[in-house]
Amino acid sequence: MLEPRTHTCGALRAPHAGADVVVQGWAQNVRDRGGVVFLVLRDRYGTVQVTIDERSPEAVREAAKKVAQEYVLQVRGTVVERFKPNEEMATGAIEIVAKDLEILAPTKPLPFAIARDIEATEETRLSYRFLDLRRPVLQDKLVARHKAVFAVRRYLDGEGFLEVETPILTKSTPEGARDYLVPSRVHPGQWYALPQSPQLFKQILMVSGFDRYFQIARCFRDEDLRADRQPEFTQIDLEMSFATREAVMAVSEGIVRAMWEAVLGEEIPEIPVLSFAESIARFGLDAPDLRFGMEHVTLTDRLAGSTFPPVASALAEGGIVKGFVVAGGAEGVSRKVLDAWTVFVKTYGLSGLLWGKLGADGLSGPLAKALPEGASAEDLAGWMGASQGDLLLVAAGSPTHVHPGLGRLRVHAAKELGLVEEGTFAFCWVVDFPAFEKDGEGHWTPMHHPFTAPRPEHVDWLGTERMGEILTDAYDLVCNGWELGGGSIRIHRSDVQAKVFDALRLPPEQQQERFGFLLEALAHGAPPHGGLAFGVDRCVAILTGSDSIRDVIAFPKTARAQCLMTDAPSRVPAEDLAALRVRSVEAQD
Ligand code: ASP
Repeated sequence: MLEPRTHTCGALRAPHAGADVVVQGWAQNVRDRGGVVFLVLRDRYGTVQVTIDERSPEAVREAAKKVAQEYVLQVRGTVVERFKPNEEMATGAIEIVAKDLEILAPTKPLPFAIARDIEATEETRLSYRFLDLRRPVLQDKLVARHKAVFAVRRYLDGEGFLEVETPILTKSTPEGARDYLVPSRVHPGQWYALPQSPQLFKQILMVSGFDRYFQIARCFRDEDLRADRQPEFTQIDLEMSFATREAVMAVSEGIVRAMWEAVLGEEIPEIPVLSFAESIARFGLDAPDLRFGMEHVTLTDRLAGSTFPPVASALAEGGIVKGFVVAGGAEGVSRKVLDAWTVFVKTYGLSGLLWGKLGADGLSGPLAKALPEGASAEDLAGWMGASQGDLLLVAAGSPTHVHPGLGRLRVHAAKELGLVEEGTFAFCWVVDFPAFEKDGEGHWTPMHHPFTAPRPEHVDWLGTERMGEILTDAYDLVCNGWELGGGSIRIHRSDVQAKVFDALRLPPEQQQERFGFLLEALAHGAPPHGGLAFGVDRCVAILTGSDSIRDVIAFPKTARAQCLMTDAPSRVPAEDLAALRVRSVEAQD
């Protein structure tokens, strides 16, 4: 019979000696030492040793023989101080001598042990997620997640933010991905979209006068899946009225500080602010990892006279030349590694990697051939801030290849060379993003989303040849090379919003059909406003040092968007589809 629990498995210490207690949990370990049975009982709070020996009644000794790993047990007994304390267990000063033992539930054989490190494949782990989640390592991550989110709620409440829920069955909000669609049974042929974010609703809440909104919001994006993406994920979503960019950034920093404090007890030092242009110039990426140096140097003008074909042809086509220095890399980086790095940068569209080693007798490697007449190895070393023994890595080509190629190589090389100190956090803000970029087909698309306000002084450039120069008050908060979140000051005038839609070549009928409600709201007295969203999964993964965001989500999907435990997505009976007036036309391949 279930008795009231007196203590959790992690609670007992030496001063409890002599107490009669009732504990419940899972048998993590069962050892039978010739008539003396030692059980380690585990619950969310810790583990405790239970001993069944001659001090235990006969019936208990019989019952103990039937116990196997992961059986659910109830133990009543007396706490006694251990003769030899176990320093590795929080409860190691004591053990419980069982007076009563009840098997509350047995278990089928386990597919893997409930241990810190297990051999099981991720597929098996996800199929048996209920067992995987029993592992204390994963429980700790979900505890950290709870603490982080709870701290955020408390912080935002203190700052006057109201938590408001927005619809899940809604109309499409463009955040750059496909929508998940839900057919309406009541309105045959019509569809809801699951929100890619609460973007439009939070803006409308500002029009309604809520002033400060937040939500721990579930978002859905049907993207081509990458290893670290989930089709549904959680954002800390916020919006503020009458707020400058700096005001939104200050609150957002407060959120991150609250999470770091709650989970790690760490204070984050002042966060540097970089412009988008500066970030690209120095690191090649808009989410720079500032835990190490190796900043990029521009060599375009210095190598202008080069006759070396890779450089000369890149420059002739209006390209750029950039590079960075790996201190001491002349010795340490082998030819094999350089070949692998060359293959690596080629995946970003570069034709190759020009490397050079600065040795006692000058510069060796392909880079030596790239020097224009009259320029010496010392000159190059001076331009790049290099000294003898250093490795120089240089690339030439269009900025759209050189920046990401060298930018990713900087991170890749730092990791391979062990230059990244784990367990440290380097934050930065990236601001002043361009409003638009060209997509693969040469059409302008919003860099953030189409509700981001162009700088007032740039509004007149909408739809002109200066589209690419328009800047916004958008901001991203980056940690260790990951974008934790981002947001912007929004368009709060319906005429400007329509102008942006026009510039993006969204026909007026479509503007009305898709965003008529937003334009209508903005036309009814919208306050200037701005906001931001943080990815909770990403933040918690970084906070807990997890390799994958799947480790910080209770029931994640695989990289192929499946839930292996429930088998979703799955087929549904034909009559269910018929009720929705939907017919399945599966691909015939
Ligand atoms: N809605 C944006 C996003 O999901 C964030 C924001 O602009 O507030 O990325």
